[in-house]
Formats: sequence, structure tokens, C-alpha cells
Amino acid sequence: MQSIRSRSFTASVALAVLAGCHDGATEPVKPASIAIVDGSGQVGTVGQRLGTSPTFVVKDDGGRAISGVSVTITVTAGNGTVANAPRKSAAGPTSVGAWTLGQKAGANQLTVTVAGLPPILFDATARAGAAVAIAPVSPATFSGRVGEEVSPAPVARLSDAFGNPVGQASVQGKLSGGGSASSTFVSNADGNVTLSGWTLGTKVGQDILTLTVGSATLSFTANKVASDPAAMSVLSGDQQAGLAGAPLPAPIVIGVIDRFGNTVLGQTASLAVTSGGGEVGGTATADASGAITVPSWKLGRTALPQVVRATVGDATLDVSASVKTDYHIDVRFFGSGMTEAQQALFTNAAARLSAIITGDIPDINLTNFDVTQACGLSGLPTLNETVDDVVIFASVENIDGAGKILAQAGPCGFRSAASGYLTTVGVMQFDAADIERLAANGTLQDIITHEMLHVLGVGTLWSDRRLLQSEGTSSVTYLGRGGAGGCFDSGGASVCTAGVPVENNGIPGTADAHWREATFQSELMTGYVNLGGMPLSAITVGSLDDMGYTVNPLAADPFHVPIPGASANMIPGDGGWEKRPPTTGVLISPSGVVTPIKRP
Ligand SMILES: [Zn+2]
Repeated sequence: MQSIRSRSFTASVALAVLAGCHDGATEPVKPASIAIVDGSGQVGTVGQRLGTSPTFVVKDDGGRAISGVSVTITVTAGNGTVANAPRKSAAGPTSVGAWTLGQKAGANQLTVTVAGLPPILFDATARAGAAVAIAPVSPATFSGRVGEEVSPAPVARLSDAFGNPVGQASVQGKLSGGGSASSTFVSNADGNVTLSGWTLGTKVGQDILTLTVGSATLSFTANKVASDPAAMSVLSGDQQAGLAGAPLPAPIVIGVIDRFGNTVLGQTASLAVTSGGGEVGGTATADASGAITVPSWKLGRTALPQVVRATVGDATLDVSASVKTDYHIDVRFFGSGMTEAQQALFTNAAARLSAIITGDIPDINLTNFDVTQACGLSGLPTLNETVDDVVIFASVENIDGAGKILAQAGPCGFRSAASGYLTTVGVMQFDAADIERLAANGTLQDIITHEMLHVLGVGTLWSDRRLLQSEGTSSVTYLGRGGAGGCFDSGGASVCTAGVPVENNGIPGTADAHWREATFQSELMTGYVNLGGMPLSAITVGSLDDMGYTVNPLAADPFHVPIPGASANMIPGDGGWEKRPPTTGVLISPSGVVTPIKRP
């Protein structure tokens, strides 16, 4: 219980003494009842004085209000205070004084006591005051994904000056950064404001929702992170050109973005070569900025489109590169016509060889150049054009039925001696009776590449370029340093010390024009066809170098010189399956003057 203030008590005692002197010997009237007159059941605000002071009356047994009766007024609930409380009753309604409610919302009570009578109780209800503070219930700083509703919704609590929660209060909301949210929220009975329906903006960064009530503010800060990976882009290194079989010169850096274009951090891309036959590491992980650097991508060994596909989640990205070469092989089809699949084999062979020969050779201007006359095959055109660097006419025709001659191929328009006789125009004609069988056993592509190498001079220019020793004998040997170096590099030091062994089987068209089958077996430029793949080795690349082509040694196929011994899986096995074009060809000067080649 709270005592009545001491100052009021002192004043009341003084008044009582004076009254006693005035009334003399009059006997005090005995109080018979005490009753509420007015002011109970009021609702007020915590810490504030009630609008109306409650009143009571003390009566005698005749029902008359009597004054001067000692009364005690005590706060009995709610911890309020009463100022100016009377000590004695008045001769009518008596005010309890100024009742200030307690600071906690809820029930307040005053008790008025007169000796010998049951006390009377005044009730009042204290409600919370105006909201003057707002505090976070859920964390004021949190993370969320762009474009999504904040979940769970953040919660703040309103309170008055005494810390009582304030319900049914309106709070203003203001967003900065982005996104959308209501501009007004209302507190519930517990004083809680739930920020439902707050959707974050679409750009990574911060969205801040600031709540204001009165002079109080509170900010909730959402740190936005990107959404799921939706797309990728090449940040740097796309569309590079590099040498076949070599790593690209500059790194390739990939970025991952969500559907709003934000960089998605922490992703790992899986990588696979999907075109061109190169090699690339299997996965790559982003750095702190989200950039993914593709591990070294070694291009394939052919000048076909090179593509690596990167995959992150549902997103894929194709990164393209090209094989750098300045040597251009122009394949033109003539005669009865080929299927598209057959044509592609010739195009592939040209792409393979232009990945190996990378340097330009001098252009040749042709004027009324009769290809039929130069090459000895009918159905070929007359050319008026500048050739850069070689034109090869290809066809599939009936030659001599199944077996026997499979192809006739070779150069027929040569550059001048000063240009190393390098081929300007050549032909490749395949026997229609044999080609399906070779396609079926998987050797046709390699055979076409083999014949195209003859057109460029491998085997066909060796004699003219004086690269052979003991030609026409069983000890025929290739002396070019490039070919021999390729043999050494392929583990053939023991067989190539005195030069590269050349085919010595005595069969025209095979002997003196191929690497020796007994030594090199499956190598592409031996004189026999082997099942199971025919590598284009560093020996053959070296021979192209010897003839004056600028070559890229990295484009050679992996090859190791086999242990000497006959190949068990070669076809057709009887040799003599290919021949040169039926003419000796022509020399073409830099200005286009054509001179027939005379051979003994
Ligand atoms: Zn051949």
C-alpha cells in the first residue's frame, strides 16, 4: 500500500485541531456508511492523472452526509499515486484527490477506509500511452534473395514511454534500395508490427525498410543475394584463335547470372568439349567475385569449330574458339556427285591439314588454266582466279571395280622451283566400287586424309625435292631433318639414325612414296591401310616442314614408333591400291605461266 503524502497529512492534522477548538464540547457524529458517488471504472492512460477525480460520501445513520470523519485513501493496485488526498470527509461528495495511474498498463485501484466501516474501492484501467519507441523483435539485419518476399516477415514492437506495448497503432513504412512494401502497418494487441508482403528488389545490394511512429524510427536492412543461376556469359576470352593442339593464349572467364542479371556467387561450372576434339579440365569454381576461369583449354588438332560447353545448374554456355591457320585448302567436288557425308570427309581432311600447315604460301594467279589437261582427268574446269593456297578437285567415280585401284591422287599444278614446287592444284579421285567398304570398316576418313597429303607433296614431292637416298632400292631412306626429327620425337631414335625408312616393297605407287610399313605400321603415311586408326605422326608433320610449309608440330597425333614387325591388321595387304594422276603435271610461274613437266 502507498501512504498518503506526508505534507497533506500535516495540513490535515492542523485543520482538525482548529475545528476541535471551534466546536467545543460537541460530541462527534458517528459515521454509519461510506459510498462511492462518482468516478469509479474510469479508463485512463498510464502515468497520467485521471480526467475526473472519484468522489465518495460518508453518512450518519440518518443518511446525512457528515464532515470531519477521518478517512484513509490508499492506492491498492496499479502503483499509482494520489495527490491532495483528504484526511477528513467533507459535508457532501468528497474527492479522493488527484489520482495518477501507475506506469504499467492494467488494473488500478484506490481504497477509501473509514474506521469501523467496510472500505470502498475505486477501480480504474490504465491503457498504454502513445507509442514512443519501436524495437526489432526479429533481427534488424538479414539476408534475402532478390525478387522474393521476405520470409519469415520481420517483426517490430511498439511501446510507450513506460515500455508498455502499444496495440492498434499505425506505423509508416518507407523503402529505400528497391522492392515493394506497404506504406502503413498496424500493431496487434501485443504491440507487434509484422512486415508482411515485403518483396525485395531485383538488384543485389541492400533494401532498407524504415518504420516511423511519432519521432521513433527503426530500420530493417535486407542484404540481397542473387537468385538461382539462369544464364552465363563469357566475361573475357571468347572467340579466340589459337594453334591446333595448343592451349588458347588467354584465359576464358565466365560469369553466372540470375534471371535479373545479378552475378551469382560461389558456382562451379562443369566443362566439356562439344566440338573440335580439344581437351579441357572437367570443372572450375568461381573466385570471390563470382568469375569462373576455365582451366587451360587445349584445342583439337583440326581447323573445325572449337566449342567448350559450360554448365551451371540449368544454365549452359558455349564458348567458341577457332584454330589459327593461314593455309587455305579449297576442296571442290566434280564428276558424278558425292553424298553430303562423303563430301564432309574431304572437308574434314582439309580442316585437319590446315591445322597442321599454318603458314601462308605465295598466291598464284591462274589465267585460262586447263585443269583437265594439267591433271589428265576429264570433267575438270578451266580456272581464271587467284589461288590461295591450293585447290583440290575431288570426285568418286568408277575406276576399276572392287579392289585393285582405290584412288588416284596427287598434285598436278606445281609452283615454281623458287616456291619449292608446292602444290597449287591437285586431284583426288576415289573408286565408287571401293568407297562403301572403306566407309564401313572405318578407314575412309584416314584414307582421304592420306590422299590429300599426297596432293600436298608427302611422298609425291620427295624425289623432286631430293629428300630420298637410295631411291628405288631396298634401303631407300628419307633424309629430311624435319621427318627424322619427328621420328626421334616419336621414340624412333633406333630406326631413324640414318634417316627415316621409306617403303621398299617395289610396288609402283607405294615404294619410295610412303613411310616403311614394317617400321611404322599404323602411321597414316605408310603404304598400307591399317584398321584401328592411323595416326598422322610428327614424322609426317616434319616432312611437310621439310618441303617448305610452315607447320604447327603440336597438331601431330600422338604416335610412338612401333617395335619393328609386320602389321597384322592391314588391308588390302597386296599393295598397289593407289596411283598418281595420269599426267606428270605442269609448273606454274608466279605470273601464271604454265610449263609442262617433262620426266624421263
Ligand atoms: Zn599413299
